[in-house]
Amino acid sequence: MQPIELSHLRLDSTLADLPHHDFTVPPDILGRTVAEELEQRPTVPGVIVQNGEEVLGVFSRRQFLERVGRPYGVEIYLNRPISVMIKNLAPTYLAFLSTQTVQNAAEAALHRSQGLLDDPVVVLFPDGRLRLLHSYVLILAQSHLLNLLTNLEKNRRQLAESLERIGRELATSRSLDKLTKRILKELDKVMPHERALVMLQEEEDLYPIAMRGFPEQMTLNDVRIRIRPTADDVFRRIVDTQEAIALADVTQDPEWQFTDKLPLNHSWLGVPLTIQGRVIGMISVTRPPTNAFTADDVMLTRAFASQAAVAIENARLNDEIDSFNTQLEQMVVQRTAELNRAYAILERLDKTKSDFINVSAHELRTPITVIRGYAQMLAGNQQLQADSTAPMLLDGILTGIQRLHQVVNNMLDVAKIDANTLQVVREELFLRPLIEKIAAPYEHDLIQRRLTLDLSELPHMPPLAADPDLLTKLFEGLLVNAIKYTPDGGQVYIRGRVLPDSNTAEIAIQDTGIGIAPENHTLIFEKFFQMGELALHSSGRTKFKGGGAGLGLAIAKGIVEAHGGRLWVESVGYDETTLPGSTFFIHLPYPN
Ligand code: ADP
Repeated sequence: MQPIELSHLRLDSTLADLPHHDFTVPPDILGRTVAEELEQRPTVPGVIVQNGEEVLGVFSRRQFLERVGRPYGVEIYLNRPISVMIKNLAPTYLAFLSTQTVQNAAEAALHRSQGLLDDPVVVLFPDGRLRLLHSYVLILAQSHLLNLLTNLEKNRRQLAESLERIGRELATSRSLDKLTKRILKELDKVMPHERALVMLQEEEDLYPIAMRGFPEQMTLNDVRIRIRPTADDVFRRIVDTQEAIALADVTQDPEWQFTDKLPLNHSWLGVPLTIQGRVIGMISVTRPPTNAFTADDVMLTRAFASQAAVAIENARLNDEIDSFNTQLEQMVVQRTAELNRAYAILERLDKTKSDFINVSAHELRTPITVIRGYAQMLAGNQQLQADSTAPMLLDGILTGIQRLHQVVNNMLDVAKIDANTLQVVREELFLRPLIEKIAAPYEHDLIQRRLTLDLSELPHMPPLAADPDLLTKLFEGLLVNAIKYTPDGGQVYIRGRVLPDSNTAEIAIQDTGIGIAPENHTLIFEKFFQMGELALHSSGRTKFKGGGAGLGLAIAKGIVEAHGGRLWVESVGYDETTLPGSTFFIHLPYPN
């Protein structure tokens, strides 16, 4: 008997997929004819006796031959119509529709009584034909299906494990290259194959990012694929339909692009990589024989591809982020180097400026002292005092020299602050009397400019440990600025309080002047920073908007910081019409 080939069976196969035999006879046929027929067709398992539509019975080969072999059997059965045999036969044959599953039919066949187990079963096809099926074929088919089931279970387990591994890989490896190689290795475990490719789609191109099973001399570039616009292009179909396509034999596809470098693999399976309904690429696998991919292979590869797609997309995003980060880092390094160079230049320039201030202040001090000495000598001269205009002229010279002296002193202070050499000689210092003393000489200027100075919120506070000369410079500078930048008729308030932490004195000098734009709140404390126009500079210290050298606030800040305090300005903006005003805040710490 021929070995039975059942490898084509699937889990959902029906009786129609099994090898059957036809042997149907009418009841009036002679037993001899049946015996001859059975002899000529050794694979036929029995005979169906049928009268028109009606099935009268089924003889298995065994039953028939048994009867014929009995004493008188030849006489009774061989020479008479087959219907004679039927009369002695209980109608116990088993019949199934051809659409019945192998699994169910096999179970029913095995449940028959012991003596009937070998008997063939009858299968009814949609065209009305009855055919015979060997019971042992049914049992073989069932065992084949059980095998398939076990393998499928094994595959499922492998798939689950391999998906889990890919998940882990994703967490540890951030590179697309490593991930895709890993994906192909895992795919081979789940669904063994000869060659495989992972490709990503870029417009009408599928460019491979990982390959497996290809000859060594082949590169990814050699297997780049162009998706053709024709509707029958297999790659186009996969991309358009988002379905897997298995080709039983690529040599049957007239459009297939073969390459000489590759041994021919007949079976090809292409599965789309999709993310949220969008195809990002494809996994293709090949096997040498024709028709080598089963529906299970397609299903497994699809399940695998859906996980792989997520992993690939994430790795791709990671790669993008990494390369973006690298670019950013390079830019930061470049910009930092540029900034450092610029800082170095600025520092050199600033040092040059400080040196210049220092040198010129020292150079100016000597001649100023000499001029002041001579001017004072002239002022004491009896003859000149008798002159009607000389004392007034001398007074002017002395005031000018005094101003010059102040400017030079400011320059020296800035140089000291820059060099961190400002000396702070601390002593017990009460703020209110100090500020009253500073303000007193300006009474005349305030009256002239119709400004009011309000000290009503400057209480007597506990004494600070501070340098009286430096604090005089500080408050005088701020008071003069408040007067200078407030138009005639305005107010200047000096307020003071001990902050709730009891460790800090806060003094606020507020004016109703032109205000300061927020973008300049920090800049005004830089040396030489001025907002006014140079042309408007006047030598009058308290004249409206009369500029100075732009050193006052830099010195003030240096003094406050040398005392461990903080100085800043608050002002909603600069406006010479609405006069928003400015408030300079000073925090000075009390001794512990
Ligand atoms: P200057 O010698 O020019 O007064 P400062 O260092 O004292 O230099 O002040 C720097 C700049 O800050 C001034 O030119 C002025 O524009 C601005 N400024 C200082 N105090 C005030 C204020 N109370 N109101 C408005 N602007 C001010």
